[in-house]
Order: sequence, then structure tokens, then C-alpha cells
Amino acid sequence: MRRISYLLIGSAVVALGAARANAQGGAADTAYDPIKEMVARLDLEKYKAAIKGLTQFGDRRQGTDRNRAAVDWIEAQLKSYGCTNTERIRYEYTPPPRGNRGGGRGGTRGRGPARPAGSVIATSGSARAQGGGMMRGVRTVTNVNLDSTKQVDAKLRAIDAQPATDGPREEVYCTKIGTTHPDEMYIVGGHMDGHGWGEAANDDGSGTALVMQLARVFNSPDVRTQRSIRFILWNNEETGLNGARAYVAQRQALQGKEDPAGSGKYPEPKWLGMIQHDMMLFDHGMPREDGTLSPEQRPEADVNVEFAGASKAADGAMKLAWFFQTANEKYATDYPARVGQHMTNTDSDPFKDIIPAISLRENERGEQIGAGWDPHWHQPTDRYSTFNDKDFRLGLNAAQTTLAALAELTGATIKK
Ligand SMILES: [Zn+2]
Repeated sequence: MRRISYLLIGSAVVALGAARANAQGGAADTAYDPIKEMVARLDLEKYKAAIKGLTQFGDRRQGTDRNRAAVDWIEAQLKSYGCTNTERIRYEYTPPPRGNRGGGRGGTRGRGPARPAGSVIATSGSARAQGGGMMRGVRTVTNVNLDSTKQVDAKLRAIDAQPATDGPREEVYCTKIGTTHPDEMYIVGGHMDGHGWGEAANDDGSGTALVMQLARVFNSPDVRTQRSIRFILWNNEETGLNGARAYVAQRQALQGKEDPAGSGKYPEPKWLGMIQHDMMLFDHGMPREDGTLSPEQRPEADVNVEFAGASKAADGAMKLAWFFQTANEKYATDYPARVGQHMTNTDSDPFKDIIPAISLRENERGEQIGAGWDPHWHQPTDRYSTFNDKDFRLGLNAAQTTLAALAELTGATIKK
């Protein structure tokens, strides 16, 4: 009964809005699409500039001065975009003792067998992937580079030199407050930390810059959203999603509470969904039999939208993923989106049993990244100069996809 009356109120509001529009100057302009205008405000050069800006802090490894400087820089950018209500999550990070680092990530201390310099061992056949899928065809060994001498640029090697120390950590977020539902929000994230003695340009400068560009567009002075959107740049993803886990631990119970009472303020709006962006640039296809890859973005490159089929919120997450695919078809300019059911190893993971959670990537994490489709992953070559505009454009198309989907989900409009 309650639900029915809510729906009736909803349609009454819509009817009232239409009536008002008519009274103010005839029929509404049905050709005008505010989402199209918002998507057009994304810009390849601005996206690239944000990635480049992040690379000044090298690999931004957690627990270092360069990581802390990057958090400060990101916060200053968010404020400059008009997302001025920045806040930080504070937590302690101490690595678990060796031999007890579940989750298969291995953190900054590396993972998997060491690979001799320059060698790429290609194998073929089927193998089970992380996240549950099947790796098929040619695959190469992947690992985290721990050897400073592999960074041939002495300047960058010096920037990346300070080791991580255990202790307090911070990560920054800001929030676009909804006009009619300030108590409900979507969480949009990317992780700002990296490792491997490069610049973490793709992993995950590309996802961090994407979230920052969405914050810029949604916080334009003329953009309104009915529901809230939180833009968050996770720390400690590479050590085991510790920043995202800290967020869930600290804030899950605060959801939807007005504080102070009667203020109309909701420090932690109710979570409607979580959308993560991790490694957005490089889709050059499967390794060849000799272990090398195509030097060019493959023409059939796509944005991989993944949900976790085995999670408690899988049904909602699946619908959210397909909603993104539809938004991509309608609004993205160059590259399609593809839906998969094996989301894994990124900051949406701690949310997946609580709310619908998805991740966007250049490739499927388990079957493709895990099989060596990105040779720069956690390597000294993950640098801004490694990628060209065809690569950056894949990230831009992911930004267009998320922006359009979010604009629809939050009822975004442009005030004329
Ligand atoms: Zn990553």
C-alpha cells in the first residue's frame, strides 16, 4: 500500500512538472538531452592532463610521501572543480605477516614467480582465472616488478625510491549533494595508489583521472542531480583493498542518518550502488604465441563492465551492469561496453555483498588481465608516455559511459 502511494506521488510530481513547463512557454523541447550535453563536457585533453598530473608523483605507492602528496593534489583538484566539501577517511595500515596474506594479491611485496628480465613465457590452453572465469588461448606470466633497476629513467627511479612505512593512511572524497534525495547516493571510485617502479599512469591514474573528470562535470554550477554522488579515490588498493575495506567498516552503519537531526544533512547517504574504475586505457588483445602484443589498440577494444555473479547483491549488480551497457550504446562515442560476471580484485569487492557493485576496466580482470593482456601492468613501463590517443580514448569512453549512466540514475539536469 505504501509503495503504491509512493508511486502515485511520484507520477503526480512528474505531471506537475510537465504542467509547469507548459505554463512557462509551451511544450518542453523534446530534442534537448541534458545528458548529451554533460557527456560533451568530457574532454580527451582534460582527461589526459589529469592522468599526467598524477604521474608527477611517480607510482604513488601507499605509505610514502609521494602518495600523501598525491592525495593532497587530488583534493585540491576536486575543490577547483567545485566539489568543495572534501573529506578524508583515516585508517591504519600494517601488512599482515608473511605467509598470511589471503586474497592472492601479495601487495607491494610481489606475487607469483619472478620473471627473468625481458623474458616473456607464453603458454596456451585453458586455466581457471581469478574471479572464476576461464583463461583460454595464449597467456603470459604476470607479476609486480620489485626491481628498481628495471626503471631505466633515473629521475623517475629517484621519485619512486622512498619505501613504504606502516602507519596511518588517508584517502579523499567529495560529494555532489542531491536536490530531492540528499539521503541516497551512488559511490564512484578509482584507486590512486600504484606500484611497480613506473608512474602508475594506467593502473590506476586512468581510473583516478576518470573519477576526477566526472566530479568536474557533475559539479559544474549549472548541473543538478536529484540523488547524491560520492567521488572517492581509494588508497591501498594494491595491498589488498585496505582503503575500501576501511570505508565500509567505518561508514556502513551511518547510512541514511540525518546528522544533526533536522538539518537536512546526511554525512553518509544510503548506498544505492558502487562503481569502480581500474585500468582504463589498454586493450591490445591477447598475447601472440611469441609472448608479444600488438603495439596498437585493437579496433574491437571495449570497456569491460563486470559484476560478481556469486555475490549476495548479484541480481541488482547485473541489472546495473546492463544499464551501463545501454548507456554506453546511447552516449559513448568510439568504443562499446561488454558485460561480464567475474568482477574481482578491485575496490568494488568489499561492497558486493551489501549493494549492487560493478567495475569498469580495459579488459576482464580475471580472464584477460590475468592472462597477460596488459604487459605494462605493475611494470616500470606503466608511464604516461607509453600510451597514445587511441588508448586514452578508451578511458574517455568509459568516462562517457559512467557519466551518462549516473546522470540517468541520479536524475541529472542542466539549469538553463
Ligand atoms: Zn589497479
